[in-house]
Amino acid sequence: MEVREIPSGKITGTVKRLCIEANTLLGEDVIAAYEKGLEKEESPIGKDGLRQLLENARIAETEGLALCQDTGLVVVFVELGQDVHIVGEGLNEAIHEGVRQGYKEGYFRASSLDPLSRKNIGDNTPAIIHVEVVPGNQLRIMVAPKGFGSENMSRVILFAPAAGVEGIKKFILQRVEEAGSNPCPPIVVGVGIGGTFEKAALIAKRSLLRPLGQRHPDPEVARLEEEILEEINKLGIGPMGLGGRVTALDVHIETYPTHIASIPLAVNIQCHCDRHKEAVI
Ligand code: SF4
Repeated sequence: MEVREIPSGKITGTVKRLCIEANTLLGEDVIAAYEKGLEKEESPIGKDGLRQLLENARIAETEGLALCQDTGLVVVFVELGQDVHIVGEGLNEAIHEGVRQGYKEGYFRASSLDPLSRKNIGDNTPAIIHVEVVPGNQLRIMVAPKGFGSENMSRVILFAPAAGVEGIKKFILQRVEEAGSNPCPPIVVGVGIGGTFEKAALIAKRSLLRPLGQRHPDPEVARLEEEILEEINKLGIGPMGLGGRVTALDVHIETYPTHIASIPLAVNIQCHCDRHKEAVI
């Protein structure tokens, strides 16, 4: 395959557009999950919460306003074709510049700061960038602004193998229960099982980009997703944490081979503001 040149400006422009779209336009799958939740929800206050979320999404879309005041840190997954040559700025800087421009043009809150001095960087950079090199000459960019009410409720644990599937289920349910209303339910629960400490967290985060309602291709994992979703929705936390059946919109699990001595488990919680957009260049 011939090497294809992609100007860095094109990447910047695409990231800028995706930042604006992700912060103002919820995916059809998320809207459909709210609507399905509204049918399912038994509690009047829970139903009211879901109606407000639908109304919020409508206003954000028609007025071009941020879906939430917390416009997050920008997580960017890139699938970089091995036959792509980026011309101009480096890939990372092209992405950071796209975030800078998108957050300025969208009037979105800049939340990134130095973790120790707590001094705000001012333009919501740097983005958190994960690059995977894949065959081909295209560049796929997925932009996911991540709110921290939900990020703060996420955890990684490394179990001994004896914990088994029961230990995994128990930990996820405990995590969601302890998180309560903090992650702005109804939530999406991203789960990474296997790999190493960091790989488990990465696949948990990546699982959040899967469309809601889409099950894992492995029937056993898919069954586990459904089982955990059902259990979570029996906890009674409900929309906005005000009580009800619809605590989670979905559970997504990704797995990766691991070491004989461990079961790494990461639970990455996404709030109801389930924002992500992607483009292929
Ligand atoms: S966790 Fe999500 S819904 Fe809650 S404040 Fe942050 S971005 Fe908004």
